Amino acid sequence: MSRTVLVINSGSSSIKYQLIDPDSGESLSSGVVERIGEESGRITHKYAGEKHTLEAPVPDHEVGLRQVIAACGKFGPDLAAAGVVAVGHRVVQGGSRFDKAIVLDEASTREIAELIPLAPLHNPANVTGIRTALEVFPDIPHVAIFDTAFFSDMPAYASTYALDKDVAERYKIRRYGFHGTSHAFVSREVARHLGRDDLKQIVLHLGNGASASAIDSGHPIDTSMGMTPLEGLMMGTRTGDIDPAIAFHLARVGHMRVGEIDSLFNERSGLKGVCGHNDMREVRELAAAGQADARLALDIYGHRIRKYIGSYAAALNGLDVITFTAGVGENDSDLRREVLEGLSFLGIELDRESNAQRTDGIRAISTPASKVTVLVVPTNEELSIARQAAELIES
Ligand code: AMP
Repeated sequence: MSRTVLVINSGSSSIKYQLIDPDSGESLSSGVVERIGEESGRITHKYAGEKHTLEAPVPDHEVGLRQVIAACGKFGPDLAAAGVVAVGHRVVQGGSRFDKAIVLDEASTREIAELIPLAPLHNPANVTGIRTALEVFPDIPHVAIFDTAFFSDMPAYASTYALDKDVAERYKIRRYGFHGTSHAFVSREVARHLGRDDLKQIVLHLGNGASASAIDSGHPIDTSMGMTPLEGLMMGTRTGDIDPAIAFHLARVGHMRVGEIDSLFNERSGLKGVCGHNDMREVRELAAAGQADARLALDIYGHRIRKYIGSYAAALNGLDVITFTAGVGENDSDLRREVLEGLSFLGIELDRESNAQRTDGIRAISTPASKVTVLVVPTNEELSIARQAAELIES
């Protein structure tokens, strides 16, 4: 009989879910509960090629999860017959405590809750999702998979900020890195695809959030996100790297409070801040229509990526593969071309035709003569979570 894992990604006002066969990689069903806590919620449920949308009040996460069960009961799949062996939870911040996936219980859930000060925008919703799911599915093992875990063994010179040591220790300030599930999944796919474990890789996860990682023979040696997912590349709504003194300036001269600056940097900056739109497709359309701010936003976005590629090639002392993944990385061929054409000094030769094509699987977009192989690899964080959860409960 086939077995499945229910993967849950719980946000502050949404629950994304997917029922996955960890052995075949097949996604049996997926969906999202949105607008939790608002006047009217929405459940979008996909099964057997059909999409069902329901509008109903979803006052909290518990009602949301019960709606998911109800949607499965009404539209399929039959959860009782689906052989659910585990629930896999995405957790954004695992701190220094969690360097690998764990089976959840009350005590470990409390420890994750204790990490909330390190990830106030993400961990509260993750913890709410876990607590609710433990109640709703009491007879199935629950596993937490941490976004930070893959980067937990980064060298100290990459994970340590040049900050007073005592202060850093007292407040647990270090570079944790995020999107680790995606960077781990994609870099392993690359090694498998090329049949080599000894690769010097740069992985560019370019979605609404964006991050780069430098990986040497399977081990991350640096990543662009830091203590929080704010550092690094320019993102949909986040600044990425910024002079920290800008925060002091806004407080002193702009009389802004900490919360206002936090929301400015996280929610009203990046592509959105520069040109008013955070969806790359819209930014590109506006730039093509001659809108100067949209063009500038794209230029900053590409320039940042090139800078990271250059610095990571130096940190790795060489480079075999660059991989593009996530919404922008997998779909935006113009962005890939703009980034790569500025990197000819690394011996990168783009195959313009392959770059422009759209296919589902892994593909090379560099020419055979290129000194660095450039790949597009679809990420699949949910499948990675399902596999890790299934592996852990078996071990
Ligand atoms: P993700 O966070 O990985 O789901 O990526 C979401 C982002 O991918 C969206 O905000 C879009 O900007 C971007 N995206 C999706 N499809 C395309 C496309 N065809 N061209 C450019 N960007 C895209």
